[in-house]
Amino acid sequence: MRTPIIAGNWKLNKTISEAVALTTELRDLVAGSKGVEIVVAPPFTALDAVSKVVNGSNIRLAAQDVYWEDSGAFTGEVSVPMLKDIGCDYVIIGHSERRQYFAETNQTVNQKVQAALSHNLKPILCVGELLEEREAGHTEKVVESHVTGGIKGLIETELLSCVIAYEPVWAIGTGKTATPDQAQDVHKYIRDLITNTYSKDVASQICIQYGGSVKPENAAELMTQPDVDGALVGGASLNAESFAQIVKHAL
Ligand code: PEP
Repeated sequence: MRTPIIAGNWKLNKTISEAVALTTELRDLVAGSKGVEIVVAPPFTALDAVSKVVNGSNIRLAAQDVYWEDSGAFTGEVSVPMLKDIGCDYVIIGHSERRQYFAETNQTVNQKVQAALSHNLKPILCVGELLEEREAGHTEKVVESHVTGGIKGLIETELLSCVIAYEPVWAIGTGKTATPDQAQDVHKYIRDLITNTYSKDVASQICIQYGGSVKPENAAELMTQPDVDGALVGGASLNAESFAQIVKHAL
């Protein structure tokens, strides 16, 4: 039985005081929710303050990116030990915005995944095709390369510490959600890929969440799909009420 994970990616939003207010409201709204892993990913500057608000609650903390070296002359970067120190349990890796605007590749994604796992930080590995790739019939090929490239070299136990987030790029921040059938097809494809490269047992345990314009209005239908194990939420996670409603749809 897989526990669904609802994660909020706040992207480049929220000052420290705004982040504390949002998290405090959310913490009260989701208090007592069980059977779902609730995660928030504020910007780096707000991680420490949000960590204090979620301490002792049922909300886990994630960062939105990480570097693969532990320390050294890498100006502007943040390492896995730093994120652990601040209270993170998860880190989003390979989000399409990082692939698109910051030259993230399958290779750098894999280095980050490996670094995170080496310090028990759980990667949320984002994969997904562009609109033109879908229209050209290349969805499976792109998703396969993102998944296999991102998890390259992982042993079974390491893979099971990862969450895979299928996020069709054409559905991110556009209001265009994949239909439940479109999401299910790709989630099943990913699970079958894991069956073929690892085992049926591993594939049946790994959590695969959907992301792309998830809102309270569409969350329930997406999450009733057999291979959809929760959601990675951008815009709707910036409002505590909306995010809490999505959490309730996962229960
Ligand atoms: C995201 O950024 O991961 C995302 C899914 O954004 P949105 O929910 O706004 O489409």
